[in-house]
Amino acid sequence: MTQQLSEKELFNLKKLNKVLRRQTGQAIADYNMIEDGDKVMVCVSGGKDSYTLLEMLSQLKAVAPINFDIIAVNLDQKQPGFPEHILPAYLSQLGVDYKIVEQDTYSIVTEKLEPGKTTCSLCSRLRRGILYNTAEEIGATKIALGHHRDDMLATMMLNLFFAGKMKSMPAKLVSDNGEHVVIRPLAYCKEKDIEAFAKLKEFPIIPCNLCGSQPNLQRKLTEEMLSEWDQKFPGRLETMFTAMQNVVPSHLADTDLFDFKSINSESGVINGGDIAFDKEAFTNPTKIEETNDNEFYKQQPAVQFTQVN
Ligand code: SF4
Repeated sequence: MTQQLSEKELFNLKKLNKVLRRQTGQAIADYNMIEDGDKVMVCVSGGKDSYTLLEMLSQLKAVAPINFDIIAVNLDQKQPGFPEHILPAYLSQLGVDYKIVEQDTYSIVTEKLEPGKTTCSLCSRLRRGILYNTAEEIGATKIALGHHRDDMLATMMLNLFFAGKMKSMPAKLVSDNGEHVVIRPLAYCKEKDIEAFAKLKEFPIIPCNLCGSQPNLQRKLTEEMLSEWDQKFPGRLETMFTAMQNVVPSHLADTDLFDFKSINSESGVINGGDIAFDKEAFTNPTKIEETNDNEFYKQQPAVQFTQVN
């Protein structure tokens, strides 16, 4: 850190660090993301999210009751102007093990796709494959990615609007080649906290537009919509994320998830029955920051609102 932080900035940095570390630790515990003896490959792109992920995992490693190793991996995709000295310098100074993988995916995508078209989907597929191979090579048991709560919410909305699916980005999954466990330890962290933290930490951010491709327009619009909701309706994104953790299959319409056919007059009331024609009083399950690590989400009975139809 080179800048001199004011007292207020230092206070904010400590507070953000505490919040982000607690949320990361909680997500790791809730999804059993990291186990004793794991070798975690942390994918570091040079963006705010992956720097924060690496920082949080390094801090948690120092205090965790289990032993696990961290190895930071960066893929140098040979985009024009990629500042290849930044990450090695930063990672050496941090004292973490790291590996820089050099693969010219930039030439492949620019050759295959027409100019002006977005190259992200092919690029991501290539990058995924290279990262899986690297995990294999270095003997990593887990692959950690820097996606956060707001990425998960945006993915959920995109699936709802464009794919006809109620599906998000999982906090933990098996990779599409069936061979690796992929984890997202920042699943509970808000992007605005990560952004503020990264700024105060002065991470050496590498811009993500070096390839010249446009980001996915629909994702960008969805992210903007969520951010607008967050400003206009404080607590809405927290409630939406809580909803992802409170799925009620009997009150949706997926016959594979719930056996609607077997319901008969003897089934009894299922999950509160049907109050669709009543006024519903909702309680806003807002996240309370000052709780201990294991009491993450609490009901906040003071906030009530009423749905009219
Ligand atoms: S912005 Fe560029 S580097 Fe990033 S995924 Fe898209 S094509 Fe790849």
